[in-house]
Amino acid sequence: MKVTRIAYSRRLNTGKYAQLAEQARRLGRVRAMVWARYGSPVRDGIRDRTIRDQWMADGTADTFGVLASAWKETVRDTVADISAHRAAGKVKVRKAVHRRYKDETQRKKGYSDLRRGSWQDNAFLARKMRQYVQHGVSRTANQIVVRSDQYNTWNMADGNVWIDIPGLERRQKIAIPLNTTVAPTGTLRLILRSGRVEVHYAVDAPDLRERRPCGTGKSGVDKGYTEVLTDSEGHHHGEGLGAMLRVESDYLKTKNARRAKIRSIAEKSREQGDQAKAERIERNNLGTVKRCRRRSRFESRVRTVTFTAVHAVIDKANHVVAEDLTRSFSSRRRLGKNTNRRLAAWTKGVTAEALASVSERRGSVLTLVNAAYTSQVVPCCRILGKRSGDRLHCTWCGDVWQADHAGAINVLERDGDPDISLYTPHTRVKQLIQERADRRRTRLPVQDSSPIGRRANYPSSNAQGIGSRKNPGRRTSLPAVGRGRARGAAE
Ligand SMILES: [Zn+2]
Repeated sequence: MKVTRIAYSRRLNTGKYAQLAEQARRLGRVRAMVWARYGSPVRDGIRDRTIRDQWMADGTADTFGVLASAWKETVRDTVADISAHRAAGKVKVRKAVHRRYKDETQRKKGYSDLRRGSWQDNAFLARKMRQYVQHGVSRTANQIVVRSDQYNTWNMADGNVWIDIPGLERRQKIAIPLNTTVAPTGTLRLILRSGRVEVHYAVDAPDLRERRPCGTGKSGVDKGYTEVLTDSEGHHHGEGLGAMLRVESDYLKTKNARRAKIRSIAEKSREQGDQAKAERIERNNLGTVKRCRRRSRFESRVRTVTFTAVHAVIDKANHVVAEDLTRSFSSRRRLGKNTNRRLAAWTKGVTAEALASVSERRGSVLTLVNAAYTSQVVPCCRILGKRSGDRLHCTWCGDVWQADHAGAINVLERDGDPDISLYTPHTRVKQLIQERADRRRTRLPVQDSSPIGRRANYPSSNAQGIGSRKNPGRRTSLPAVGRGRARGAAE
């Protein structure tokens, strides 16, 4: 497995930064041009070499104002981006092929045409490609891709690494001091952000293999909101997460409102012809340097909490069962402007990444299961319980569960469930749960006998006044996200 490492420039002088920024700006034009001309699905299968040869032959290359190696590398990188973008859309087209053709040879032909990019003559495939693969655009103008034979690295007396990369003129080099003692290797991606250069490069993960062994148990985990994960023993991991998200989303909300107000003042002065004032406001009050810094600080804090939580789970378990978090992403439209939910959706992706990478590094097994209704079934009687805040009430035996704990137990039980696979639709899952409950109900006529016999699973300190059956509808006290989760069908 490859992982990306990032080295940062250390006290780079502004002159050098400006030179690099100019180069990145010119390469941004190349990038935008590749997307504009070859980003359409119709251009599937085009190779970067073809584009290069054509642009060198027709003189387009002379208008870029950068060295040949720089723009060629950018073309290669952009074509790779475009095919990744297409491949994401092709997943849906593949499913359409499966639905459309019942004959196995026809299906295979469809798949291979898709893979090779030779689907243009097939009207059905062409229609689906246009439907699912959109023409992308690129506004990226802060990146320079540098091939491994185009730069040198060396260590200074203090041990820190310097790197020199080609400038705009032939034989001109720009030396960048880095904040690391380990020299970057392979193809580099330089990203220029707020006066600092980030050097991204890939290294093999075996170098990073963890020495910490994993545990011996098997554990189910549920992604919560107030914490990163709850395991099937009821332990919470990464409990600071909810507070962190809340603070950040409150901050962003007021900050963005104030920025909008200032922006409207700038626009008003521009309308009134006071161009200088508008520019002054944009320069001094609407910059992005501090905002970017704050965001990256916040993101790295969330990542630390998340990875620490996942490590804590794997300290105990060598087999972790989790829901497939990448499948349950809510659509951007539904999230709307609610910053809090957008942040929460983003942390799901971080958790998914942490589960995959920590399991791989520490040698434990990760099984992804279908998560439909796992946060609504009570483990005691395995019926759909009544959700109230973070509690789940069993309407059959009266047990009260902490919802995330119940979720984790259900996730664990999904592993090896003969009827519910990762791809079983959630309507079928609900049907199965009800059928099974009905079967048990006929076998157990006394409603109060719980088959497992676990009671009061909710922490006793919070259990006062729960009154599960008398007062199930304390809906007004639900936190916003809890309400959303309780309503959603496929949790
Ligand atoms: Zn029960």
